[in-house]
Amino acid sequence: MSDNQLRLVWIYPDLLSTYGDQGNALVVERRARQRGLDVARLDVRSDQPIPTSGDIYLIGGGEDRPQRLAAERLRRDGHLYQAVQNGAIVFAVCAGYQILGHEFVNDLGQREPGLGLLDVTTTRGEGERCVGDVLGDIDPRLGLPPLTGFENHQGVTQLGPTARPLARVSLGKGNGTGDGTEGAYNDTVFGTYMHGPVLARNPLIADLLLKLALDVNALPPIDDHWYEALRNERISAAQQPA
Ligand code: GLN
Repeated sequence: MSDNQLRLVWIYPDLLSTYGDQGNALVVERRARQRGLDVARLDVRSDQPIPTSGDIYLIGGGEDRPQRLAAERLRRDGHLYQAVQNGAIVFAVCAGYQILGHEFVNDLGQREPGLGLLDVTTTRGEGERCVGDVLGDIDPRLGLPPLTGFENHQGVTQLGPTARPLARVSLGKGNGTGDGTEGAYNDTVFGTYMHGPVLARNPLIADLLLKLALDVNALPPIDDHWYEALRNERISAAQQPA
């Protein structure tokens, strides 16, 4: 972070923003401001260059065609890769998560290269689409409470040796491989299948991104009772028999 200003970049809202993914940008922005930080939020459309000076980059989910267009433009742009080499933090949802990996299957049924920022590979699942509520335990190394979210994807994502599963699900499919893993991360790059929007339902993940950006171990506490109410409501709704 420079000039005491947190630069938050929301990548391609015109292509990748479904199921309230915009909420993720709102949550990071608000929680940073509540800690007294000056935040510059940049929403970068797919016809604009990605800045390399961002601290946190967010990418949402999308349908198969916009996902292909986003991957093509991000590859051509090249700046997100550069930003990560400089230590930037990335948090990506669903289609965004798949784009961060080595490759995924596009809307034309072809293998589409991703950005290679996460050691994951996505194929098209043969079974039913993974749709519904998800509950899981986040990797204990991250010190976070249980994950809650909503998934809707056909892709199945296999992790390579340098990616760690973000969570293990007790409800829902997550990566869809049948091994119970959900999402993936390495040092500063995070991917998840959770929509919801996931950071409204799991605000301490937003705080984790802020802590990484600020390079601190703790943040001043804030009143989270509305978040808690939402979390509890969604967790009990998910646990109801269908
Ligand atoms: N198109 C991708 C899939 O179905 C991602 C979907 C999404 O982002 N919700 O796997």
